[in-house]
Amino acid sequence: MNVLVVSPHPDDAELGMGGTIVRLLGQGHDVTVLDMTSGEPTPHGSEEIRARETAAANKALGNPRRINLGLPNRWLEATLENRVKLAEAIRRVRAEVLFVPYEYDAHPDHRATYHLAIDARFAAKLTRTDMAGEPCYPRKIIHYFCTHLKLDIQPTFVIDISEQMDAKLAAIACYQSQFYEGRGDKAGWIPEMVRTTNAHFGQRIERAYAEPFFAQEVLGLKGLDDVL
Ligand SMILES: [Zn+2]
Repeated sequence: MNVLVVSPHPDDAELGMGGTIVRLLGQGHDVTVLDMTSGEPTPHGSEEIRARETAAANKALGNPRRINLGLPNRWLEATLENRVKLAEAIRRVRAEVLFVPYEYDAHPDHRATYHLAIDARFAAKLTRTDMAGEPCYPRKIIHYFCTHLKLDIQPTFVIDISEQMDAKLAAIACYQSQFYEGRGDKAGWIPEMVRTTNAHFGQRIERAYAEPFFAQEVLGLKGLDDVL
């Protein structure tokens, strides 16, 4: 299956669903992570540092295909022009399943990514258009949680990542400029929050760790074999 993870910034895919990415790759799926922006500037990063950290994190995840749309960081907007760029990427990747950030978020780039992805999914199927590539309609959108709001998350389902958690934490640790440097006694606070959140949802299914997901559309099961 062709899976496209739409990530506002380099690190959001890792934080929200790094374990699932590792798991999907291990199951033989074709996974692409698309970062909407460079993620820079940030207080302790730079374009070069962030690109280096992203390459290292991507390797820790098991090397999903990684692309960057190069849109303006901090000022990302759900414009028609940006919708077309993302729709063309969906067509290029031939995405069957789209992972998209959760709708509610304090960060405008994350909210813009949500709206762009929903609209680009529809645009990607259009015929009789100037857009590059052949029509493509990802049949499911699944939302992952990389939100800056301290929400009490109510997932539709969770994925067991007990065996993938070490790789996920290793990938997150690659972003030293984002989670450790210059953060004083808050150094490592975000990775620890992710770990405890994943432990919480792991406990809900009697596993060590799990990542939460939300679906607006109905998801079907072939049977009960994969239900934990
Ligand atoms: Zn972000």
